[in-house]
Amino acid sequence: MEKNQIVQLEITDLSYEAMGVAHYEGITVFVNNALPGEVVKAKILKVKKKFAFAKITEIITESPDRIKVKLNQWMQTGLAGLAHLKYDKQLEFKQQQVIGLLKKAHLEEIKVLPTLPSPEQTGYRNKAQVPVRNVNGKLEIGFFRRHSHDLVPMEDFFTTDPAIDRTLVAVRDILRKYRVPAYDEVNHQGEVRYLEIRRSKANGQMMVILVCLHKDFKQLPKVAEEISQLANVSGVLLNYNPKKTNVILGKDDYLIWGDAQITDKIGDLEFKISPQSFFQINSLQTPRLYDLAIKQAGLTKDSVVIDAYSGIGTIGLSVAKHVKAVRGVEVVRDAVKDSEANAKLNGIHNAKYVTGKAEVMMPRWASEGLKTDVIFVDPPRKGLTPEFIKAAVATKPRKIAYISCNPATLVRDLGLLAEYGYKTNEIQPVDMFPQTPHVEAVVVLTK
Ligand code: SAH
Repeated sequence: MEKNQIVQLEITDLSYEAMGVAHYEGITVFVNNALPGEVVKAKILKVKKKFAFAKITEIITESPDRIKVKLNQWMQTGLAGLAHLKYDKQLEFKQQQVIGLLKKAHLEEIKVLPTLPSPEQTGYRNKAQVPVRNVNGKLEIGFFRRHSHDLVPMEDFFTTDPAIDRTLVAVRDILRKYRVPAYDEVNHQGEVRYLEIRRSKANGQMMVILVCLHKDFKQLPKVAEEISQLANVSGVLLNYNPKKTNVILGKDDYLIWGDAQITDKIGDLEFKISPQSFFQINSLQTPRLYDLAIKQAGLTKDSVVIDAYSGIGTIGLSVAKHVKAVRGVEVVRDAVKDSEANAKLNGIHNAKYVTGKAEVMMPRWASEGLKTDVIFVDPPRKGLTPEFIKAAVATKPRKIAYISCNPATLVRDLGLLAEYGYKTNEIQPVDMFPQTPHVEAVVVLTK
């Protein structure tokens, strides 16, 4: 097999990144945008020892589950890598991902429930982060072509709230009007690197963040003023990112106009959100995700609960009314400040939050005599660390409620927790990210 060769392939599977999988002369071939059951002609793009990458040149037999994607760009960029698959099949794909991983880990006795569908299948995202670059002499916003830094210009981001899309385009036009230079990655020059917009589903307020190479640029006052006049914009900020890096945000934010926070709701609680604080991006599905974890956690009026990885306090504050006490821990200081303010805002007095690492704080609380009933964990994609698991188990909770955004690390951690006697019968996948291959899941483990 060699580069540029055209081969006929039968697609037998879908990879966790939603690439069609085929086998050809002992080599596994990953085919962009191909679906199981399809027979395609494909051009080989890259060959390694045991696997290769290819793209479709012709679909010979089309899957009955394929749907037409309105814009090619969504697939080219990986913005919505599952958009070509019918929604009920997307849900099945996510359930199958978890089943496959459990099987590999010899944990097939754990049952995987059908994926809970999202209330909104498009336009569900409450946040957008889009690169700003020059394309053919014009400032554009869009998304990077898969595995590259070529900007594909775009105005309709499909999974993002349409009000955010409209505002992104309006801000782009303001940047064009004042001839603000887009960031140039190669020469590390220009001004605006990314646009970020966060929007409250509850009241429509939007926070606009210009991610910039410098702390200031000459057109900034005019640009900020015009942005502030756009409908529902409640704050304009500049995030300062001077580094040569792929990391989107720098660590400092400067408020140029309005408020530095927006307020959104989860269920009947209000949450203030700072620019860099984590907040689940699917506002309507989030309370349903939390409720699944809370219901199974078997909480009582006497329960003491730890909200590890607490962000702005969303989980802990959602359970506070049902329990005796909540302790939260989170590494981002601003997020902790948000969680304290959010406790006050909702009249909650039995939740305390501290800045620090969960694996350091939990043993400290235990040595101070805190008896924990339930630990809620909602870690980043890399999952739990062995130190965290040791510390969590040492506090002797009755249950551990695990919310995961990466089934691979979830399954790994379930194996580790089982060694300490924490077990589960079932996993509930929840679709937080329709049209993409991302899988979220809830598990409650009992000692
Ligand atoms: N529970 C919140 C936030 C989940 S995101 C919600 O559902 O909205 C995961 C959070 O864990 C992030 O806010 C991140 O800053 C935090 N975090 C990452 N590593 C951590 C650690 N070792 N200890 C405590 N918090 C951590």
